[in-house]
Amino acid sequence: MSREVWCIVEHRAGRVDPDSLQLFAAARKLEGVAVAIVCAADAAALVDQVAAHADRVISLSAPALADFTPDGYAQAIVPLAQERQPAAILTLHSHFLGRDLAPVLASKLGAGLISDCVDMEWSDGLLGRRLVYRRKLVATQRSTKPGPQLATCQRGAFIAPEPAGTTAEVETLDAAIDADAIRWTVRGFDEAEVVAGDITEAEIIVAAGRGVGSEENLELVRALAKAFGGVLAASRPIVDQGWLPRGLQVGSSGKTVRPRLYLALGISGAIQHVVGMRNSDVIVAINNDPRAPIFEYADYGIVADLTEIIGPLTAAVESLRG
Ligand SMILES: Cc1cc2nc3c(=O)[nH]c(=O)nc-3n(C[C@H](O)[C@H](O)[C@H](O)COP(=O)(O)OP(=O)(O)OC[C@H]3O[C@@H](n4cnc5c(N)ncnc54)[C@H](O)[C@@H]3O)c2cc1C
Repeated sequence: MSREVWCIVEHRAGRVDPDSLQLFAAARKLEGVAVAIVCAADAAALVDQVAAHADRVISLSAPALADFTPDGYAQAIVPLAQERQPAAILTLHSHFLGRDLAPVLASKLGAGLISDCVDMEWSDGLLGRRLVYRRKLVATQRSTKPGPQLATCQRGAFIAPEPAGTTAEVETLDAAIDADAIRWTVRGFDEAEVVAGDITEAEIIVAAGRGVGSEENLELVRALAKAFGGVLAASRPIVDQGWLPRGLQVGSSGKTVRPRLYLALGISGAIQHVVGMRNSDVIVAINNDPRAPIFEYADYGIVADLTEIIGPLTAAVESLRG
């Protein structure tokens, strides 16, 4: 193991995003030395959170790195990468580092960028695999330019390694940042109103509509979502009743979701709802009205009273999933 794979650590409010540790697993899949790159105004406390998992840590500190900005992080990382030529630089795909930083780094380093990898290996350059066309195909891409290779990793695709029982060697550097060259700033973070996970990232969604009839029945839908290992979502009337928070509403004035499986329970299929979920991979609708428009969008439809079917369905799913 000699090639260095730099893993840029995501953090906020003094806490490392635990999913960042998954990057170390990707680095080791590349038979590389997993080097955690921590950029912050004062990286010391963050370094402690990764040192048990990475092979090495490089801590880059500067007052201008207090908040994430692509310009600030790029100023800290690019000169070092040009000097040391790591084999690859990885970030998580979602959020700031994958979406905003990775393209900037790739551009400044003149490197290719493979986004949203679910697997990667070293094969005459960095080779990354990603799911495309609504997850129906696996694209295999290879960066062809020599020099550091850039890739972003899908959350959950690599399993974060257990602490190694040792503490990584830490190299502490001051980053020279020209604060005037930073072109945007973070104005603030407001907590999103989400109680059961981010529905836009969910693989399985069980959505409740007005047809559930009562807040008590909503608990049955919640139990079905739990049995599937999915998250609960809702049509607007459920949210308007105050039964669930706005962050769980699917539709034109809510969120757009694309899970692998979307179960619509007691949802009529109004267009304002459908625009938020029609691109789901598989849609299953349960409705007691065979003419409900939701059936036009469903891959599988069940005409039934959901209060009668939901209990046995939950029991069947629990038994199948063991
Ligand atoms: C500007 C605007 C924005 C909107 N944005 C959104 C949005 O973001 N999201 C959204 O969802 N809506 C939105 N709406 C509202 C939308 O138009 C519909 O009113 C709403 O989607 C209907 O929700 P529903 O399907 O749960 O209820 P309903 O349309 O009342 O349908 C309930 C369904 O449950 C079935 N049912 C009843 N009892 C049972 C039972 N026991 N078993 C099985 N089935 C049963 C009925 O047959 C019916 O089909 C918006 C509307 C406007 C005007």
